[in-house]
Amino acid sequence: MSTSSSRTPNSPTASRPPTNELPTARNDPSAEEPTARNDPGIEPPTVRLDPPTSTPPSAATEPPTVRLDPPTSTPSSAATEEPTVVLHGRRPPETASTATGLEIAQFLVEDGVLTREQLTHAIRVRSKLSAEKTLLGILNELGYVSSEQQRNTLRKHRVSIRIGALLVELGYLREQDLRAALALQQELRETGRPLKLGDILLENQFIAENKLLEVLADQLGFTQITPELGDVDRKLLDKANPNWCLQRYLLPIRVENGQTLVAFADPIDPRIRLDAERLFGSAIAPLIASKRAIRETLEAYKRQSQTLAPAIQVDETQQVVELVHTMLADAANAQASDIHVEPMKDEVRIRFRCDGVLGIYKTIDKRLAPALTNRIKILGKADIAERRRHQDGHITFEDPVTGRQIDIRVSVYITIHGEKIVLRLLRKAQLVPLEQIGMFPRILSRFFDDALDLPSGIILITGPTGTGKTTTLYSAVNYLNSIDRSITTVEDPVEYVIEGIAQCSLNPKIDVTFETTLPNIMRQDPDVIVLGEIRDRFSAEAAIQAALTGHKVLTTFHTEDTIGGLLRLMNMDIETFMISSTVVSVLAQRLLRRVCPSCPAPYQPNSTELQRLGYKRQDLEGASFSQGRGCAECRYTGYRGRVGVFELLVLNVMVKDAILRKCTSHEIRRISLETSGMVTLLEDGLLKAARGETTLAEVFRYLPRLDKPRPLAEIKRLVGVT
Ligand SMILES: [Zn+2]
Repeated sequence: MSTSSSRTPNSPTASRPPTNELPTARNDPSAEEPTARNDPGIEPPTVRLDPPTSTPPSAATEPPTVRLDPPTSTPSSAATEEPTVVLHGRRPPETASTATGLEIAQFLVEDGVLTREQLTHAIRVRSKLSAEKTLLGILNELGYVSSEQQRNTLRKHRVSIRIGALLVELGYLREQDLRAALALQQELRETGRPLKLGDILLENQFIAENKLLEVLADQLGFTQITPELGDVDRKLLDKANPNWCLQRYLLPIRVENGQTLVAFADPIDPRIRLDAERLFGSAIAPLIASKRAIRETLEAYKRQSQTLAPAIQVDETQQVVELVHTMLADAANAQASDIHVEPMKDEVRIRFRCDGVLGIYKTIDKRLAPALTNRIKILGKADIAERRRHQDGHITFEDPVTGRQIDIRVSVYITIHGEKIVLRLLRKAQLVPLEQIGMFPRILSRFFDDALDLPSGIILITGPTGTGKTTTLYSAVNYLNSIDRSITTVEDPVEYVIEGIAQCSLNPKIDVTFETTLPNIMRQDPDVIVLGEIRDRFSAEAAIQAALTGHKVLTTFHTEDTIGGLLRLMNMDIETFMISSTVVSVLAQRLLRRVCPSCPAPYQPNSTELQRLGYKRQDLEGASFSQGRGCAECRYTGYRGRVGVFELLVLNVMVKDAILRKCTSHEIRRISLETSGMVTLLEDGLLKAARGETTLAEVFRYLPRLDKPRPLAEIKRLVGVT
């Protein structure tokens, strides 16, 4: 192993064109944000209105608090894609060095190395210099920042710094070369060959690999090594598939002081870091090594393992048993809701769904696929001899950490590459009191007063699958559960068990169906009836009959929003009179991902986002938007946990009248908004984003945008917060 030596940057000044002639390499905001594109809920990226790439003299007098183009992508959703960025997933597109310097300078300010006044002064100085100088160079020359301080700050913020920008700012790369590389990257992406910026810089010899490694080692403080197979702890490599390591250009070295030393060709790519953490644990000490050294070591390892292959075969069964156990334990620990075990052409991919989003867990050798599938099928009590038909099964797994039982539903689906297995982890979740599900005060009190506390009538809870309807339903049932009430349910299946109520799971195999169960419910003298879900006209009519005979009925419905729930009933040919006289309220809901509490950073909506909301800046007065920077706690997604978003429609006389008159959905919506105090999903989510609980990106991605939201102050008044 050899350690790098530091070097002095080249003079950055020589051949720069004046900055104000710079073409903008940033017209496509996805230039380094490959994820925004694939996000179905977000419109195609439009040109952003960014701060200017040049610094005209007038800009020099502005305070240096200009925020750079705010991040918009959602890195987690892209975790499974081949990364096309070199550095951080959530950050502005590569831009000219003026902004670059500012970005790094902001970190210096944040660290208390530099004062705002000094920064303002340096910006003014730069604007007056005819020769182009980098902001960092000026800060150095003015004696405001020593190279030691600069290095410390760069090291501290290394995961947030963009490689191209850094190279320009330090004088290792000419600005025009960076622009050329970015243009090339764009071209390649359009021809379906996405490449990381670092790779383009190397391939086109804008910078030599040893130079690049030196900069990363010297400025960002990664120890540089030249690994050899002899240095590597084979046990670590045995955990991984060498092809998987090669795809990511990473190489585990050894465990030292509780940390796993891992060499990366690109130690600041958050997705690769994340993949490595999933495999080797979160305590990773990153090192840097050349691609060639990593590849050669892995190839040597592969050659050696091939000669050892028969020995590996022997304990394959034991290996698979452990693999499955570890996978289930890791999924439980990561609070995953589903595990996908997917055979692909050359490997088996395992992904976890956490907070509603799939991400890679690990990939394993295809050779192990049959043993792996068999092991899961044995645990799930499925037929291991059957390989051509879909199957299902069930596993009860004890979480080794909490000791809690987790029910796992197993589904085996036959694909062209073999059996794909999806494991759904059904946790015996604790009941959340209604006060804690995330309703704003006035919405919550109306849900109590105008819905739950009424003696009869139907309460509909609507939303697509996986939006927390069931949790809310159970919270409401639990609220109603008292000694003086009889509650009877029919569910498919029972998901939470509540003491003191009569719960029934449907079982079509023995003819316990909705149709056969309902007449029996009515003979149970219920006060409250819970129908798991309205699926068809039969169950809808049953709910209405029960409500007409003086019962309170709680049920869920698979529709987009509150008005959609009413419309669905109307479209089932149910008399509008029946609907208006039985339905008392409709609650629509969604779950958005919560900004990670460990790494929040303030966020300013950009003009495009304002436009999409139909807002002017003043409509957002008092807002403090936020976005996670990404940290180990949130697995670099910037999100942890979820936030409920609600739209509560209480059917008042005007709304009932609109239903009776068979008004259009648009009219019913308008009347509800104007007369019933309804706050839309979008408005509720927007306010939660403005309070830093979730992000605008989540709001745009998951909430229907049917009406222009009212100004924030108005929404606050409606929901009763200040
Ligand atoms: Zn975080």
